[in-house]
Amino acid sequence: MSAGGPIVVVGAGQAGFQAAASLREAGFDGSLTIVGDEPAAPYQRPPLSKAYLSGKATPETLALRPAQFYADHRIALRLGARAAALDPAARQVALATGERLPYDHLILATGARNRPLPLPGADLTGLHQLRTLAEADALRQRLDGVARIVVVGAGFIGLEFAAAAAARGIGVTVVEAGDRVMARAVSPAISAFFRAAHEAAGIRFVFGTGVTRLVGAESRVTAVETADGRSLPADLVLVGIGIVPNVDLAAAAGLPVADGVVVDRALLTADPSISAIGDCAVFPSSFAGDAPTRIESVQNAVDQARCVAARLTGRAVPYGALPWFWSDQGRWKLQIAGLAAPDDRALTRGDPATGAFSVFRYRQDRLVAVESVNRPADHMIARRLIAEGRPLAPDRAADPAFDLRALVRPAAA
Ligand code: FAD
Repeated sequence: MSAGGPIVVVGAGQAGFQAAASLREAGFDGSLTIVGDEPAAPYQRPPLSKAYLSGKATPETLALRPAQFYADHRIALRLGARAAALDPAARQVALATGERLPYDHLILATGARNRPLPLPGADLTGLHQLRTLAEADALRQRLDGVARIVVVGAGFIGLEFAAAAAARGIGVTVVEAGDRVMARAVSPAISAFFRAAHEAAGIRFVFGTGVTRLVGAESRVTAVETADGRSLPADLVLVGIGIVPNVDLAAAAGLPVADGVVVDRALLTADPSISAIGDCAVFPSSFAGDAPTRIESVQNAVDQARCVAARLTGRAVPYGALPWFWSDQGRWKLQIAGLAAPDDRALTRGDPATGAFSVFRYRQDRLVAVESVNRPADHMIARRLIAEGRPLAPDRAADPAFDLRALVRPAAA
């Protein structure tokens, strides 16, 4: 617990912002600083691959809070400032400028960066990635004069972007090394639905092959070559092949890192004065049998931030929030509650042909996750059932006549 000494948050993203806001909400009265290397005040990333591309969201609507919020809550925002090193013994963060910020407690909320595509031609103009507002601005500016796009990677961001580009009448081809879309995160039934939905919107898929080279003319990309010998014409290429957690600061300071900064159930690193949260943190998740887990979602960033703020203001509880997630792809909203493993059984509720259905994932007879397409009620009920460990027999889940709402309705007095 911090005795009111300075708290420094490194990373001005979703998790860093929430940690500072929740600390103030919980009554922390000491000095509070957020250090962020991007120029913008904390903003939401999800619209960057959705409403922002179509102009429906603006930098103002993306902002998590207006500038006045930080002044009103005495949160010092150090933007465009990179934390270059930690000195755990002296409890100081060194900024790239050489300035040192003392802390009583440090919260690492450094997020992640795009996984690079180390291929010949990767330096050509017209190659884009999508993580930051600056990258979204660059992409949005280029979209107007473009006729053909190749998306590398059929994960969430690649598909969301593909759907937005296709809706503008642009020809889109998605190249995916695996054999189905979003394979890391969803059941085959959900993959099959989204593949068909995107194909119906004119998006073409090439599965089972990797990209070997980007070809260009006058330093602009003109085509993408694949391992199986194709040359796919492209005026723009969006690479969405995942992210790499930003662990460098923690690693250089001698803190354990794996696929993220390693923390315990309380979200503390090996140093009791340093916590780590959000996309950069690996924690033992009770929803994964306590296996080391790193989750890339708004829910996780927000709930972990709240958990650390509660601990630092004297209300320590182990982190145990249910993971949930959403992805908007064209007119389809995918929502996921819980964490499934590839071998978990999948039972479909509703008819995919209607465009609204859910897939219930079971480990033995225990409900572990529910993936819903345009069925928000299923998602909300699933969140309660899984979080509370309430049973739902598989035959009931799959029975459309069984009323799921009855399970969460308060009992009549
Ligand atoms: P980040 O948001 O990455 O913030 C970390 C910040 O720390 C960054 O600004 C980084 O530059 C900064 N930083 C790193 N190192 C340093 C340093 N040394 N010094 C100073 N600053 C540093 N999630 C969903 O649940 N649903 C969605 O639909 C969804 N859509 C998404 C769409 C896009 C395009 C992207 C990119 C992500 C999406 N996500 C979505 C994921 C979600 O946005 C992230 O999980 C969330 O932003 C993680 O928050 P974070 O604070 O941990 O990390």
